[in-house]
Amino acid sequence: MSQSADILIIGGGLSGTMLAVQLLRLPGRRKVLIIEPRAELGRGEAYSAVELGHTLNGNAARMSVDPDNPDDLTQWLTEHIAGGGWPESAEQDVPVSELFAPRGLFGVYVQQRLAEARKVGAQTGSSVEHIRAEVVDLQVDAGSVQLTLSNGQALRGGYGVLATGMFPAARTPQKTSSGLNAAALDPWDVAAMRQLDPQSTVLIIGSGLTMVDALVSLEQAGHRGPIEVFSRHGLLPHVRRQPPGWIDFLSDDHSIRTPRQLLRELRRHCRAAIAQGIDWQAPLDTVRVHIARLWSQATDTQRRQFVRHVRPWWESHHHRSPPLSAALVERLYKEGRLRIQAASFKGLETSPDGGVRIRIRRRGESQTCVVQGAALINSSGIEYDWRRVARPLPQQLLARGLVRSGPLALGIAAAIDGAVLDAEGCAAEQLFAMGPPLRGMWWESTAVTDVALQAKALALRLSGLG
Ligand SMILES: Cc1cc2nc3c(=O)[nH]c(=O)nc-3n(C[C@H](O)[C@H](O)[C@H](O)COP(=O)(O)OP(=O)(O)OC[C@H]3O[C@@H](n4cnc5c(N)ncnc54)[C@H](O)[C@@H]3O)c2cc1C
Repeated sequence: MSQSADILIIGGGLSGTMLAVQLLRLPGRRKVLIIEPRAELGRGEAYSAVELGHTLNGNAARMSVDPDNPDDLTQWLTEHIAGGGWPESAEQDVPVSELFAPRGLFGVYVQQRLAEARKVGAQTGSSVEHIRAEVVDLQVDAGSVQLTLSNGQALRGGYGVLATGMFPAARTPQKTSSGLNAAALDPWDVAAMRQLDPQSTVLIIGSGLTMVDALVSLEQAGHRGPIEVFSRHGLLPHVRRQPPGWIDFLSDDHSIRTPRQLLRELRRHCRAAIAQGIDWQAPLDTVRVHIARLWSQATDTQRRQFVRHVRPWWESHHHRSPPLSAALVERLYKEGRLRIQAASFKGLETSPDGGVRIRIRRRGESQTCVVQGAALINSSGIEYDWRRVARPLPQQLLARGLVRSGPLALGIAAAIDGAVLDAEGCAAEQLFAMGPPLRGMWWESTAVTDVALQAKALALRLSGLG
C-alpha cells in the first residue's frame, strides 16, 4: 500500500527542511513527507558537523534562514547563548551578529525553526513527516508523482521536489576507480585522524574551504607534522572580513553582461576602494545578488569562459574562510608546517611500505612526480554532473528522461520557478528542484541565503500562492 501526501520532498538537508518550514507557515492545509536517510532533518553534510571549529563561513548577520528577517539567526543565537548554550562564543569577543557559529549549532537552529513551524502548521491541519529512507526511483504518472524507496516502500504525491543537495566528487565512479576515495580520510573525521602518527606528513588534494576544515580537524586531532596541499591553481580562500557598504554598481549598469566586462568593472571598483583605504571585499560583496541574473543571461560560451578563467579566483575571493580557521591556516604556514603547491593530481601509486603515494604534476612542469605521506585527505570538491553521480535516483531520472543536464552539465535544467525540464526540454508540472541541483541555472545555488530564498519562492509556487 502506498502512502500519499500533497508534497514529497526528496532530501531533508537545509533545502528540503527550509521548504517544509515555509510550507508549514503558509495558509491552507497540506501534508508533506520528507524522505531523508539521515537520522535528523535540517543537517545534510554541512550541518552534521560535530567539531566547534567547523564553523559557518559567514557571520550570523549573513546566515539567516528567513529571507524576511535577516536578523533571524542573530536573534536565535542571542537567546541560545543567554540560555547557557555555546559558552565558547565568548572567546570570539564580538557582538552576536558578528559571530561565526559552529555548523552543528546552525543545524540545531534550523531544527528549531522546523519545530516552531510544525506548531504553526498544526493550527491549519498541515503536517511534515520524516520518512527515513533513500528514494531510488521516481515516476510521474496520471497527475501524481510516485517514489520507490530503498526499503521497498512506495509513496505517491501531488508534487515532488528534488532537494538532493551536493554529491561529493569522490563518490563518483571515475574517481573511485582510481582508488582515491578508498585511500583518503574524510576531511571531517577527527577520530580517524587521531590514529595518525602526530608527526607524520599528511597530503591534501584541493585547497578550498573543505581543505580549511581538514586543517581544523587535523589540529583538533593533535596532528603536529607537515601538511602538503596540492591544487591546480594553489589558491587559498581569503579570510572573510566585515567590509563597509559600497555602491551597487551592477544595479546601475545593466550593460555589463560578459565575464570580461564584469571583471574589468569589478577590478576598477576594487582599485578605487583600496585607493580610499576601503577593503576590496566591499565592492566584491555587491556582486553576489547579481550573479544569478548575469549567469542566466550569459551564453554557454561566456559561462565556459567564466568557469575556465575566473572560477578559481571567484572561489578563493568570494567563498571566504571564517576568521578563526584563516588564523589557523596562517599559523601553520608561518610555522612552516603547511605548504600549498599548484599541482594536478594524476593518480594513486601503490605504496608497499605503508602510507600513501600520489602522482602529481606541478604547474609549469611537463614531468609528473610521486609524493609520499602517511595519509591522504581528498577535499577536491563536488560532482555537479548528474551523469557521473553513482546514485540510483539521479541515474533513474536521467534514464527515464524526466530530467536533463543543466547548462555546462552543472546539475539539472529547470524553469525559473524550479520546475525541472525533461529530456525534450518541457517543464514538468509536478516535479521541481531546488538548491545545489540548480547550480547550472544560477551558478550560486548552494549557500544558506540562496537556499532560503528558493525555499520561500517554491513554497508559494507549490501552494498556488506565488
Ligand atoms: C561541508 C560544507 C560546509 C558548508 N558551509 C557553508 C557555510 O558555511 N555557509 C553557507 O552559506 N553554505 C555552506 N555550505 C553550502 C550549503 O549551505 C549546503 O550545501 C546546504 O546544506 C545545501 O542544502 P541541501 O539540503 O540542498 O543539501 P545537503 O545538505 O547536501 O542535503 C541534501 C540531503 O538530501 C539527501 N538525499 C540525497 N539524495 C537522496 C535520495 N535519493 N533520497 C533521499 N534523500 C536524499 C541527503 O542525504 C542529504 O541529507 C556548506 C556545504 C558543505 C558541504
